[in-house]
Amino acid sequence: MDQVYLNGSFLPRSEAQIPIMDRGFLFGDGVYELIPVFNKKVFLLEEHLKRLKNSLNLIQMNDVKGLDKIISTLIKKNTKNTFFIYLHISRGVQSSRNHIYSEHIEPTVLLMCEDYPAFSEDLIKKGFQATMQDDFRWMKSNIKSISLLGNVLLKNYASSNGCYETLLIRNKKLTEGSTSNVFIVKDEIIYTPKLSNELLPGVTRGLLIKLLNENHLKVIESDIYESDVVNADEVWCSSSTNAVVPIIKVDDNIVNNGRVGNITMKVHKIAQDFIINF
Ligand code: PLP
Repeated sequence: MDQVYLNGSFLPRSEAQIPIMDRGFLFGDGVYELIPVFNKKVFLLEEHLKRLKNSLNLIQMNDVKGLDKIISTLIKKNTKNTFFIYLHISRGVQSSRNHIYSEHIEPTVLLMCEDYPAFSEDLIKKGFQATMQDDFRWMKSNIKSISLLGNVLLKNYASSNGCYETLLIRNKKLTEGSTSNVFIVKDEIIYTPKLSNELLPGVTRGLLIKLLNENHLKVIESDIYESDVVNADEVWCSSSTNAVVPIIKVDDNIVNNGRVGNITMKVHKIAQDFIINF
């Protein structure tokens, strides 16, 4: 059975236990990362660890050292070649349930492997539906927080309406998806919301912007309004799970006559080539 890492030990998942006084369990007080491993090679580790460090810093926690070594041991111990590493750091265990945290507790560090649910090429070519909702989450969505209730409700709203994703609108502007960043295309120019406290700085978002620039495809980070999404020529979502997920319908608005657009397919191919050759 695959092993997990918990606070200094590797052990079977069924034996790993967290005390009920863990602040992650009681308050959702912690941060996480989801890092892809392709053919036993960890993908964009530096970028994920950099974002983790920033998330820790934003919740006044110290950086955790030695994660790269734990990750390589976990990869060696896993029987699969392609999967995700779920990396979870909570503020730790405190003797009483108190919003005010003690400076002197050790963080809980958990790393485990999860299956990689990538979409088939056929599904990508067909495209997916999305819905739009008010972004009712808190104003620090740039932190990859384990408090995911808002995202959970919004993703389930998508799923129960036959959609892949819920695109989130705050003050008439697009922020991101419930589990992804969003790109739109208008008149052959690609747009994505500019970084702020209202969206996660997706590692895939960053990679796509770099690859688009290298491939001379014009991309602009800017405000995108709800009406821009509705009138877009193409729309796609990006995340570490699926770098490019084409969207062909947003609520009642059909995008590009219900077909995956040429630019989206081109970007999907560029991203796949990068992953294969990584
Ligand atoms: N935005 C949200 C809310 C997410 O949960 C995710 C991924 O989990 C992303 C964006 C995409 O981030 P990344 O590309 O780093 O996976």
